[in-house]
This record gives sequence, C-alpha cells and structure tokens, in this order.
Amino acid sequence: MRYVIIFALFGLLYGCAGEVDKPRVASQEVEQTFKWKLMTTWPKNYPGLGTAPETFAKLVERMSAGRLSVSVFGAGQLVPAFEVFDAVSQGTAEMGHGAAYYWTGKIKGAVFFTAVPFGLNAQEMNGWLHHGGGLELWRELYAPFNLIPFAGGNTGVQMAGWYNREINSMADIKGLKMRIPGIGGEVITRAGGTSVTMPGGDLYTSMQTGVIDATEWVGPYNDLAFGFHQVAKYYYYPGWHEPGAMLELVVNADAYASLPDDLKAIVEVAARAVNQDVLDEYTSRNNQALIDLVDQHGVELRKLPNEVLAELERLSAEVLDELAAENELTQRISASIKTFKENAMAYHAISEEAYYDARRVNK
Ligand code: CA
Repeated sequence: MRYVIIFALFGLLYGCAGEVDKPRVASQEVEQTFKWKLMTTWPKNYPGLGTAPETFAKLVERMSAGRLSVSVFGAGQLVPAFEVFDAVSQGTAEMGHGAAYYWTGKIKGAVFFTAVPFGLNAQEMNGWLHHGGGLELWRELYAPFNLIPFAGGNTGVQMAGWYNREINSMADIKGLKMRIPGIGGEVITRAGGTSVTMPGGDLYTSMQTGVIDATEWVGPYNDLAFGFHQVAKYYYYPGWHEPGAMLELVVNADAYASLPDDLKAIVEVAARAVNQDVLDEYTSRNNQALIDLVDQHGVELRKLPNEVLAELERLSAEVLDELAAENELTQRISASIKTFKENAMAYHAISEEAYYDARRVNK
C-alpha cells in the first residue's frame, strides 16, 4: 500500500514537472529575446523623473527573466531631450520617457495628457486615464505618429515656481520672463509675461544668468536637487498650472507589435507600477525637502494671492476653450476631461476635501 502511494505521488510530481517544462521548450517564441533602447527627456538618473524609467527597465528585465532588456539613455546621450518623440516615432529607439506637453508644437491635444491648469489632480488623472476613457483618447491622438502611450509617473500637485520678484498682483506678471511649458505658458503670455520652454537641465544657469526671471519645475524634492534656492528668492504655491502632472512612457507601435503577448503584458504592468511608484516617491520625499528648503536654505515660501489665481483661472479657461475648438479630437478630449472634473469635484468636495478639513479641525 505504501509503495502504491509513493508511486502515485511520484507520478503526480513528475507529471506536474512535465507540464511546467513543456511550454518553454515547445515554443520558439518564448525563448526569443528583445533588446530595447529607452530615451528620456531628463538627465540620466535625475531624482524621481529620471529614476522612473530605470525602475521600469529593471522590472521588465526581472519579470521577463531577461527576455526583454531595456537600456535607458538620459537627455543628450543619444538625442537631445526634445527630440525623443520623433526618435521613438521613427524607431531610432523603441521607447521614450518624458511628458506629453513637450510635444504641443507637433500635436495640439498633447498637453491634455500632462496637465491642464486648474484641472485634474494625480488621483483624478489616474482615474480618468485608466477607468474614464482617457487612455483610449490618448492612444487615438498618438496613433498617427506610430506611438503607443502609457502613463509613466505623476508628480502630484506641483509648486507655482521660483521667482526673484514678489507676485502681489497681476501687474507683477507683466514683463516676467518665465520658463513654463504647456497651457500654463500660454496663460503667462496672455497675462503680459513671456513664457519659454527649455529642458530642466538648462534652468539653473538660465536663472543664474538672468535669461529668465522665474521658473517652474516640479516640487520641493526635484527643485532642491537642481538647487534653485541658490538662484531665486521666493518659492510660490500652489501649482495651478500643473495640479497632477503625468509623465509618459511611449512605445514605438511596430516594436510593441513584435512582442509576444506575455511581454506586452509585462510592459503594461511595469508601466502601471512605475506610474504609481513615482507618485508614492513624491508623496514621501516632498515633505522633507520642503522642510530643508525653508529651515536650512532660508527659502521664502509664498502663496499666490487669490485675485491672481482667479485671473489665471479665467485666462486658463479661455485658452482651454480655444484649444478644444482646434479639431474634433481635441474637442472630445476636452469634453471628456471637463465632465470627469465636474463629477470628481462634486464627490471630492464631500470626500477628500471634507476629510482634509476634518483632519485640521482641532489644529
Ligand atoms: Ca512643471
């Protein structure tokens, strides 16, 4: 009887092992390996923004047991920051990591997929993108460029930026030369300032030499890393122009199509993980970085006056309406975000916001 059981167990184990081994040797496809290049718009290994694609590459390598390896290149290593989109579109690299609003000059609606002034915060952006129709619209927008976009991180609410003059009224924005991309830049221009777009790596020197009077970048964690406190006096909040800026991972559509389905799933899951991980890292590190900036570096923290915010909001709505009227697709994207925002604001008034108030009730 004992032998029968042992034989039965042995048969069971042997059978299982055989089942597990079979597909790996049976399919050629399973053994095929892929070596991809990923270009970023950030300096190599830059905190948060630049480490996100590195984390993505490590996850993909581990999950695929080395069948898909991704080499990450920082801005300027293969192509300059602002040529990443074209390079991936043309297949010079299989992937890119950056922010959609850098491509506004090529694609009118791209800006909707980084941040809209006074728009969705990180939590809402992720909800709209993954469960509210946003991702489908983004893929439709990028399809003519042979690119498939994925969310690749979110900074949370940013800071309004670094200034060498106080902003007490809209008059202080007149004549201001500020680095601020996207719709926020257009708003500053309409308010009488001059907006410029340049990669993060150029900002410190541009502030130091007076090429620009002000710059927004991200938030305390990233801004401390660039040392903006050494070249600017005032640090303003809130980041009205980027309330939940989303980063992007783009994949060349032909390269993606060449992957077997399990590797496609690995790319998708790794992107989703990194998207959340970036937000988690900012949520954790911004707090301490703000304390360091104020307590150790003497940064003067200021809130933009409400009358300034009200005028910036009015101008933003004007620019957004014009952008929506550009074409049928920007109209649909804009309408989708607008509806989502209205619904989110109604619910968040009695959930997130009500809770923030409740948490401060005895403070
Ligand atoms: Ca920014």
